[in-house]
Amino acid sequence: MTDRPEPSIRKRLRVEPGASVDLSGWDPNETFGHQKSAAVTELAAGVDRLTDLQERLWANGAHAVLIVLQGIDTAGKDGTIQHVMGAFNPQGCDVVAFKVPTPDELARDFLWRAHKAVPPKGSVAIFNRSHYEDVLVVRVHGLVPAATWRRRYDQINEFEALLTETGTTILKFFLLIDRDEQKARLQARLDDPAKRWKFSTSDLAERKLWDEYMAAYEEMLERCSPSSAPWHVIPSNRKWFRNLAVADIVADAMDDLHLPYPEAEAGLDAIVVE
Ligand code: ADP
Repeated sequence: MTDRPEPSIRKRLRVEPGASVDLSGWDPNETFGHQKSAAVTELAAGVDRLTDLQERLWANGAHAVLIVLQGIDTAGKDGTIQHVMGAFNPQGCDVVAFKVPTPDELARDFLWRAHKAVPPKGSVAIFNRSHYEDVLVVRVHGLVPAATWRRRYDQINEFEALLTETGTTILKFFLLIDRDEQKARLQARLDDPAKRWKFSTSDLAERKLWDEYMAAYEEMLERCSPSSAPWHVIPSNRKWFRNLAVADIVADAMDDLHLPYPEAEAGLDAIVVE
């Protein structure tokens, strides 16, 4: 019997189009045999790959990359940005945080602020939360009628199809932790004077809505993961694996773009700078 190669992290964590998703069946502690002791070296290699690929993306100028991060409070969206996306040259990478919409934003359609923030060709944009909040927090808190948020899955798919068809690679990451891990992280925020500022009593109210959020995440993952703009469910209880997985998946997807450097001027070989 021949050994079959292990599927890539990307393949294992991708939500296939049309799949039904039961998050209780995804293990937030999964590491696929990766060890913490090797993680620093593995992440450094992933980060080096990303640095090189972003340089190519910028030089090549024909594609854009949009990275979407979602997850319950404390799942690690900020930490992922810090550890993984630190690979990118800030020139050519924007991080956009989606907060409670401003009156100006609420006066427009829900995709307006997302569309304004999409990356131009040659660049990466990272959405820290995103237009998906409009089928998550908005659904859980009933901020619009159900008929309105239900239409949004199709509207989001159409919007993302427009982006992918016009040269944007979209990669979406749902950072999965469990309730116990969230409890520990919230408690750590309370206990550590340097982290206390991050704690808000509203986090506790949101925590009570855990099941409602999980149902909303499941429907988002089921309805909005076409192969052109897939969701990945990232086991995120272990921060080191979360970082490694996201770096690996983004780098693999950018590799697939086969980004050559632009042609240099002819005749440069003969030139010696005096
Ligand atoms: P974060 O938790 O991302 O670090 P904040 O503490 O400022 O930052 O939280 C941003 C808040 O904005 C979150 O509670 C999020 O659910 C909320 N939010 C984002 N988009 C929307 C939206 N479209 N409608 C209502 N609330 C939103």
